[in-house]
Amino acid sequence: MGPFKLLIGGRLVDGDSLMDVVNPATEGLVAQCARASKAQLDEAVAAAKAAFPAWSARPIAERRAALAAMADVIQANAAEIGRILTQEQGKPLQDAIGEAYGASAFFRYFSNIDLPTKILEDSPQKKVELRRRPLGVVGAIVPWNFPLILMAFKVPAALLAGNTVVLKPAATTPLATLKIAELVKDLLPAGVLNVIADANDLGGELTKHPDIRKISFTGSTETGRKVMAGAADALKRITLELGGNDAGIVLGDVDPVETAPKIFGAAFQNSGQVCIAMKRVYVHESIYDAMCAELAKLAEAAVVGDGLEQGTQFGPLQNKAQYEKVLGFIEEGRKDGKVIAGGERAPGKGYFIRPTIVRDITDGSRLVDEEQFGPVLPLIKFKDAEDALRRANASDYGLGGSIWSKDLDKAYELAGRMDTGTVWINKHAELAPNLPFGGAKASGLGTELGEEGLAEFTQVHVINMAR
Ligand code: NAD
Repeated sequence: MGPFKLLIGGRLVDGDSLMDVVNPATEGLVAQCARASKAQLDEAVAAAKAAFPAWSARPIAERRAALAAMADVIQANAAEIGRILTQEQGKPLQDAIGEAYGASAFFRYFSNIDLPTKILEDSPQKKVELRRRPLGVVGAIVPWNFPLILMAFKVPAALLAGNTVVLKPAATTPLATLKIAELVKDLLPAGVLNVIADANDLGGELTKHPDIRKISFTGSTETGRKVMAGAADALKRITLELGGNDAGIVLGDVDPVETAPKIFGAAFQNSGQVCIAMKRVYVHESIYDAMCAELAKLAEAAVVGDGLEQGTQFGPLQNKAQYEKVLGFIEEGRKDGKVIAGGERAPGKGYFIRPTIVRDITDGSRLVDEEQFGPVLPLIKFKDAEDALRRANASDYGLGGSIWSKDLDKAYELAGRMDTGTVWINKHAELAPNLPFGGAKASGLGTELGEEGLAEFTQVHVINMAR
């Protein structure tokens, strides 16, 4: 395969240098990829800036039609895109193809919504209306866990609103995104969407670039702080989707056998590399032993392997740094609790870690307090739901959380007091393009998806006319 090219000003171009993209399941080369220089980043921003006046002046119906055409092309090529994604990201092929379909669905959603002018007042004295104008060039920065879905949180909304885009995937997962760029390039006027790849060195440049009006960023809280600082001088608009440490609170009335598979799925999907994975579970003491045993059983039965092999449920960690980090968290778990499933470094090549369950651990351990972002789940015992809620809310993070109970009234009441952007009841980590998504506290700033997310790609513009 490859080398994969950049998309700048409507043309597929070589990078000023090349970089290797590694398969985390084999540690072998997937393909070479064009690596953009700072000069090429400037070219991409200049192309987006030049394309902005005509694109923003188009009737929204035309922009919607372009998004629908992009959705069709992504959908039609989902199998090929998914195969590339599995090789660079590690996730099982069915999940990777599913992610490509998901991205297509997000483009489709935005191809069906509108940005109507709102009449705020219409009286004999005056007429006041609220319009939404596009901002200009948007820089979209994406991490390596869900390269396509997270791209699709940003690109269709930005384009629908009339902005132009410079998109930068993560250094270890640029290929599927560049493949999509190649497939959709003729569906948009030159320069409306530009895609560059870097070796983790151009995010800061994009953030500071004077011709970029908004940064839509998904990644770690640490990098999010740098984005916020980098955007401050020019008072750039920013949306930050950052890290999380989602808690699940499982009350004593649930059936462990029925609930454990749902919790397991929410914690270990994508080998735990999900911003809204369940990262710590508070379980009522009356069912604690049973829940631990059920989750350990599921962990032991999990099929971990190369995502291209049939039957694989969980792939490797995406990169070596994350692999080492998660192994470190497992050692913390071993020190502060008891590992009852997994916990071993797999022999041979590839960054594989089996789903790992840690019991008899509590707050104060790094594995509970910090974001592990990998396949290791701490289970914490509680007596009193109020105390569990207090501990869940004590985190600096506030992305998602969940309450599990047969008593929906009780669960609903507790959910209302969870200090997070989203709270699920009897499920976890469900997203949809029409549901606004954003983090509380150190998990982010602003909102993506839904009409609220779309609005963040616009400037409010009020016209107030005397009659
Ligand atoms: P990261 O912050 O290291 O990298 C994310 C992106 O930022 C990459 O494209 C990277 O090249 C770029 N970048 C690096 N330095 C930059 C800088 N100084 N300025 C601007 N951009 C820069 O994050 P990661 O390790 O790739 O992703 C994992 C993290 O992302 C986890 O904390 C996870 O919870 C979080 N995440 C959050 C969400 C969400 O929606 N809230 C979704 C997925 C992942």
